[in-house]
Amino acid sequence: MKWSEAFHVTLREAPGDAEVVSHRLLARAGMIQKLAAGIYAFTPMGLRSLRKLIEIVREEMDASGAQEVDLPILQPAELWRETGRWERYIDDGILFHLKDRKGGEFALAPTAEEAVTDLVRRSVRSWRQLPFNLYQIRTKFRDEIRPRFGLLRGREFLMKDAYSFDVDEKGLDVHYRKMEKAYRTIFERCGLEYALVQADSGAIGGSASEEFMVVADTGEDALVFSDAGDYGANVEKAVTAPLPEPWAGEEPKAFGEADSPTPGLVTSQDQADHFGVPVSRIVKTMLYEAVREDGSSFVAAVLIRGDLDVNEVKLPRALGVGVNVGVSGSGSIIHARLLPEERLDAVAHTRPGFVGPIGLTPPAGQDEVPIYVDRSLENGLNVYCGANREGLHHSNLSVKRDLRVKAVVEVATAREGDPAPTGSGTLKIKRGIEVGHIFKLGTKYSQAMKCEVEGPNQKYVPLVMGCYGLGVGRTMAAAVEQSHDGDGIIWPVPLAPYAVTLASLQRDADVIAAADRIYAELKGAGIEVFYDDRDERPGVKFKDADLVGFPVRVVVGAKALARGVVEVSTRSQKKAEGIAPERLVEVVKATLAAGAKAIVGAT
Ligand code: ATP
Ligand code: MG
Repeated sequence: MKWSEAFHVTLREAPGDAEVVSHRLLARAGMIQKLAAGIYAFTPMGLRSLRKLIEIVREEMDASGAQEVDLPILQPAELWRETGRWERYIDDGILFHLKDRKGGEFALAPTAEEAVTDLVRRSVRSWRQLPFNLYQIRTKFRDEIRPRFGLLRGREFLMKDAYSFDVDEKGLDVHYRKMEKAYRTIFERCGLEYALVQADSGAIGGSASEEFMVVADTGEDALVFSDAGDYGANVEKAVTAPLPEPWAGEEPKAFGEADSPTPGLVTSQDQADHFGVPVSRIVKTMLYEAVREDGSSFVAAVLIRGDLDVNEVKLPRALGVGVNVGVSGSGSIIHARLLPEERLDAVAHTRPGFVGPIGLTPPAGQDEVPIYVDRSLENGLNVYCGANREGLHHSNLSVKRDLRVKAVVEVATAREGDPAPTGSGTLKIKRGIEVGHIFKLGTKYSQAMKCEVEGPNQKYVPLVMGCYGLGVGRTMAAAVEQSHDGDGIIWPVPLAPYAVTLASLQRDADVIAAADRIYAELKGAGIEVFYDDRDERPGVKFKDADLVGFPVRVVVGAKALARGVVEVSTRSQKKAEGIAPERLVEVVKATLAAGAKAIVGAT
């Protein structure tokens, strides 16, 4: 493509609202343009990169045996009501929804479990028709709260989503591992540094869940790795080996009821300093309201060491242990939120900072406030806790002796430097961008939607499903987050809009003729070239080439031509080599094949 004939416009300045580097650079490179918050147009240049990624994804999905489908984006509310997600997604505010002229309600699909389950239940009758894995590469809509991160968090975005169907868990395992392998190949082919981490599989259902993360300092997610290399998890899921206990080897002392004044000291650290003890000797008592599927809720106390924080993503599952005793209502817990301060007084009779586990008043519908203890505090001995009175603490609490503990749970957030759960190494934290997610769904959707087949023993069984998402636009942006410099994008070869940019430096006839000839030759050799034939100064052309980030640059100028060469450089090294035109195709091909780090085959 010649620039003079292309629709391609680069910008000197990034749009004012572009906050992340991928948005700034993709916009300046003239690859995407914002239409509204979280909604982007792809230009011809941008679409070329997106298409390359789409093709890699499609090839690997096909190679895995998955089959491509196209599910409608506009989906009737009834379908979403069958799984209870209509109300939930509207409550969460994530669902774009609308009415047709007759008042019928529809959603713009944020994901497609319901639609694919409907497709399957209407046509599959027997286990003999299984297994299969259906995928699509289609636009999704989510009304994200903060759609400010360019393609990383769109409100309209492209996702590859796949759904596997099996009669049993064994089949699901096979599909799940196939998807893991396909995703690894996809991200490797894209030339991205990525990590696979354990993820939280949510409050309901789902036995395994892993995320593919592109490692980038700008990532939204915190990832926890063992420096021994044998453990990786999203911080939401990460656990540690048991932590050293400050009370190790002590004898329990007599409980000191409300004997420790803490006037005006509300943080654990201030209290610890006041008592002259490590902050791990202060018990934080957090009151949470756990909300169940059926809308019922109960209040629970979660006790954790003062040096640790509760990871709220882990709470729903943790608080599900033994809750049906002493509290009314039923069903899984879908989320847990800190009890609002205005309700604290009725339960704890004090304000934050002085809440403790002894003497809590259960709200109506509960005959107790169940006490959950983080594992780090399971053996807690001679520690301080709030006395449920302003400015007062108890001393020498012994958790096992003094409290009726409903369950010991693991809800602490892992910290850098904690021991890894695998027993070797300590934890390090890196940042990453979630680009893919593989998830064992089980029968959650097939049960709710009666997607059943006759099994080998003539009994009807709900299908066992897996779902596998991959953010296509987000992966493109993640590639930019991972690979750029002060001048612009450094595309990995497989995702570059064109492999080569060619620039003519002067307007004189010889230079133009030589550049035209090289353009034809490179194209003839099957190499994708973007030819900057504009009547612009060399500096402008170089800046634009760096900004868009073509992996290889070929420059045709009068001086070099006089020496019988053209100048070739890579975007990542920028060191130009003089190459005789007759060797150009060979050198460019070898350089691209080697990932366009350095020029290959210069002499
Ligand atoms: P996040 O936690 O980042 O909001 P998610 O866990 O809700 O994402 P999934 O439902 O797992 O996302 O979707 C599968 C994949 O789709 C994600 O791994 C991500 O790559 C991509 N994706 C999700 N939401 C967006 C978005 N708003 N914009 C771009 N890509 C997205
Ligand atoms: Mg996810």
